[in-house]
Amino acid sequence: MTLRVIAIDGPAGAGKSTVARAVALRVGLPYLDTGAMYRGVAFAVLRDSVDPRNEVEVARVAESISVVVDPNGVSVDGRDVTTNIRGAEVTSVVSVIAAYPPVRARMRAEQRAWIVNHGGGVVEGRDIGTVVFPDALLKIFLTASPHVRAARRVAEVGGDLEDIARSISERDRIDSSRDDSPLRPAEGSITIDSSGRTIDDVVGEIAAAFDAAATGIAAAFDAAATGIAAAFDAAATDTIDG
Ligand code: C5P
Repeated sequence: MTLRVIAIDGPAGAGKSTVARAVALRVGLPYLDTGAMYRGVAFAVLRDSVDPRNEVEVARVAESISVVVDPNGVSVDGRDVTTNIRGAEVTSVVSVIAAYPPVRARMRAEQRAWIVNHGGGVVEGRDIGTVVFPDALLKIFLTASPHVRAARRVAEVGGDLEDIARSISERDRIDSSRDDSPLRPAEGSITIDSSGRTIDDVVGEIAAAFDAAATGIAAAFDAAATGIAAAFDAAATDTIDG
């Protein structure tokens, strides 16, 4: 069975969470925020006073903790950390720890298991269309101008525009330049620039692309089924005649 997956990747502040959540509601699929999982690991690293630059120690933390992401929030080892993972401390180290291959391997396995358990979903992140679900039914690369992205973050969490712009651009630099699954548009993805567009407009475009992709798959399936039935009939006729 093909899992119905919509992959939404893109840089920080492009509006991925808001858009992905709304697309999930619109098309009736569950929503997974993979950034929250990496943030959960970063939270545990800080909680355990581990140096984020120590890859071996960070990997040990990532392999030993339980991170659960569901519609109610995020928990790490049974503690609700939904608010903590959005703080400045976690945000400042998350891209550093997310660059380590053992951390990514653990998160990828968790993300794939989540999708199998939920029978598909709208999955938001940085490497979903390129690495985690390269066969997703629909792959979106959502972006926006640096100024728009910084202004949106300020509107969401407050803070100084210049500081936020610097922090976003540093995170983008680390996420795009790492060796393991760097941020970049996936092959076959649709790039959408959300600058100056409303959420409804962007959600509508993605939902329409999803309907078109799902219809294409159904048509291909029908054509294949018709071909198989015709081949079967021909073989049966051959056998009867022979
Ligand atoms: O999406 P969000 O900004 O919450 O993600 C936080 C960080 O987690 C990103 O800056 C990135 O370093 C990391 N991340 C990742 N791969 C994903 C999702 C997030 O490396 N699929």
